[in-house]
Amino acid sequence: MTTPVPSPKVQAFLARGPHRLFVDGKWLSGSGGLRSITDPATGLELSQVTMASPADVGTAAGAARRCFESPAWRGMPPAVRARLLWRLGELLDAHADELAEIEVFNQGKPFWLARALDAGAIGETCRYFAGWCTKLDGMVHSPSAPDPRGPGAAGPWLHMYSVREPAGVVGAIAPWNVPLVIAMAKVAGALAAGCTVILKPAEQTPLTALRLAELVEEAGFPPGSFNVVPGLGETAGAALVDSPLVDRITFTGSTDVGKLIVRAAAKDLKRVSLELGGKSPLVIFADADLARAIPAAADSIFINAGQMCFAGSRLFVAHSVRGKVLDGIAAIARDMKLGHGMDPETAMGPLISEEQRARVAGYVAQGLAAGGQLLCGGAAPAGPGNFFAPTVIAAENPLNPAAQAEIFGPVLVAATFPDQMPEQELLTRLNATPFGLAASLWTGDIARAHRLASGIQAGAVWVNCINMLDDAAPMGGFKQSGWGYEGGRAGVEEFTQLKTIAIDLT
Ligand code: ADP
Repeated sequence: MTTPVPSPKVQAFLARGPHRLFVDGKWLSGSGGLRSITDPATGLELSQVTMASPADVGTAAGAARRCFESPAWRGMPPAVRARLLWRLGELLDAHADELAEIEVFNQGKPFWLARALDAGAIGETCRYFAGWCTKLDGMVHSPSAPDPRGPGAAGPWLHMYSVREPAGVVGAIAPWNVPLVIAMAKVAGALAAGCTVILKPAEQTPLTALRLAELVEEAGFPPGSFNVVPGLGETAGAALVDSPLVDRITFTGSTDVGKLIVRAAAKDLKRVSLELGGKSPLVIFADADLARAIPAAADSIFINAGQMCFAGSRLFVAHSVRGKVLDGIAAIARDMKLGHGMDPETAMGPLISEEQRARVAGYVAQGLAAGGQLLCGGAAPAGPGNFFAPTVIAAENPLNPAAQAEIFGPVLVAATFPDQMPEQELLTRLNATPFGLAASLWTGDIARAHRLASGIQAGAVWVNCINMLDDAAPMGGFKQSGWGYEGGRAGVEEFTQLKTIAIDLT
């Protein structure tokens, strides 16, 4: 593999390192030490980034708090906030190629994917949420409390209404798999609601968050309204959750860390929204359009090297089409070119780290030891980078560890079901997981799709499609896949609180 050279713009950005923290509209030297940020496809250093110490996080929280309480922010008309977000959206679009390229070098995914999924989507996210700034209305109630003036008195005696207020300072903790998209859903929703934000990107992938901070500055947001503190989870992330100056935490990441955050947030009952792991079923019935279902099933698990919380990682295929479907997916997997994300022929990039690759390999070994049958892949190719071959394991036992755990790698675990299986029995199998993030159903029978969609315990059900996310639609997990919503009205209301006011008019 030849090592690609970043474009002049990206080189210029990388050369601005060692990168500092963006706090209160200024670039601060943090005290948590420097971290070498590497390209997961080559292992080569891209740049260095200062990690925030808990004290630095405290400084950022102070700045976000001051800004939140300042007239510059609290007094800003919603339409002005909307224009700031809109301008940021335009800047993100104007820099989409550069942002996508930074993401490719730092995160590993192919450029075509980063350009479409990551950098291509976030400008629209900002503009979508910009629209909400001016639409977060309260309500006027019709109370039933008896009128103390007795019957016949003129007009109402009580005026009772609720206002929707911003929740305060939001700590946003983002993961490394789709860094900018996940950060933007949180940041744009929180800013639209009138909150101020401290973003902590994952320690592995802080670069696009830092470039985002430069663009936020250029868009003209007031100092302190948006801050970026790259740092380690257990220090900077934990300090954000611990800070008395932070009102809300919005987190995307692993279920285990989500549980840690809930425990830590119990200290001051800080409210938390969580977008956690998944082990989503993808079901192919015999009447499905297989020409579409097979590539979609492959895409669902292999996109972003399987490092997607929504990945359709448990395949259920009707017995009569098993051979065709599994052969088809395995053929796609074998054809996928692994390589550097900047190579236009690359279908799949590396995993984020050697540690992640070892974790994936461990699950594959456990799955095979428990009786799973390897249909393709299963190993790391020789050479540099954290690559892992796209893998399909056939495993009928639902207790097979590879069918249970969220692997977060390009590993599909496939099981069959009898064509005539009663729907309730099938639903029991689909729902037999602690997770409840998403499900995808492939069938020509739309009535069956509706029936099953209603019985599936997941926050998103996709029929004859996969990964249908939209800024306008709320997305949240059932069961251990999360709390709260991102996207849509629910996604902005997540960052608000209602205050009910009653005025005695007598
Ligand atoms: P993964 O296991 O896939 O790396 P994590 O859930 O560990 O994902 O990471 C997601 C985000 O959570 C990252 O930004 C990480 O730094 C952060 N994080 C990890 N541990 C903690 C913690 N104890 N408190 C707060 N944030 C954390």
